[in-house]
Amino acid sequence: MNGPQLTFFGTGTSLGVPINGCHCPVCTSTDSRDKRLRASALVRWNGLSILVDAGPDFRMQLLRHDIGHLDAILLTHNHKDHTGGLDDVRALNYVDRRAMEIYCEQRVLDYLKIDYGYAFAEKKYPGAPEWHIHLIDDRPFRVFDTRQAPVLEWVHDVGYRYQPLEDAPSDPDSVEVIPIRGYHDQMPVLGFRFGDIAYITDMSRLPEEELTKLHGLRHLTLNTVSYKPHHSHFSLDEAIALSERIGAEHTWLTHLSHTFPRHAEFAAMLSERTGGRVQPAYDGLTIE
Ligand SMILES: [Zn+2]
Ligand SMILES: [Zn+2]
Ligand SMILES: [Zn+2]
Repeated sequence: MNGPQLTFFGTGTSLGVPINGCHCPVCTSTDSRDKRLRASALVRWNGLSILVDAGPDFRMQLLRHDIGHLDAILLTHNHKDHTGGLDDVRALNYVDRRAMEIYCEQRVLDYLKIDYGYAFAEKKYPGAPEWHIHLIDDRPFRVFDTRQAPVLEWVHDVGYRYQPLEDAPSDPDSVEVIPIRGYHDQMPVLGFRFGDIAYITDMSRLPEEELTKLHGLRHLTLNTVSYKPHHSHFSLDEAIALSERIGAEHTWLTHLSHTFPRHAEFAAMLSERTGGRVQPAYDGLTIE
């Protein structure tokens, strides 16, 4: 099995960068690395394509990277900047002829049922999104090659009909994902480890016992939104201190806001401070 590869589809905070109507130096920068869509990342591993979070920029992110098939969408938590694009899986249902396999915790599912009630209706509007939910918790789980799943059949005036994919532990292409439990203010959220890459966003606290799951990483992603302490995100100092404790070869910062300098200056500042071990991510960056 080859190692995982991660591409940042979005590295911006909940409002994205630039912010509508803001004329600060970051929001008016002409550097493409200062254009940050909402936080999301695609992991490619052993032939599988796994997206972490599907916020309001989901459709544009798939277009930008020419994605017509995903084996899974993993959700870190239920905030809209991470789930607001889930209706747009309809395009993939249509072109790929498969339900979308979505992995989330029960508390996230409870919110999805409120936000997207029509997707869970007993008698669905024809063409509503087809999601197949896999409930996850703190325990490792596997993602499967959905090309084995039955194809959706379109029935006129009724909508899609399909047999959900049954978990097939013998699938030789499946990959293991290790959830990392953290807290976003008081809200429990999940980060995910794929081989030697871990992706953590929207945390302000990572319990001590979770650190053992983060040994031996090549790449770590951590969220930060500001220099100042924040109730639901790591501050820059906290993210740097945590990255030093975890000791990954490279740490990439995401969920960035316009309160940090333009990308080039921010990268230079972090290089000086951390010897290049901690760097800001940017949309389109691929690590492996
Ligand atoms: Zn967020
Ligand atoms: Zn701004
Ligand atoms: Zn959040």
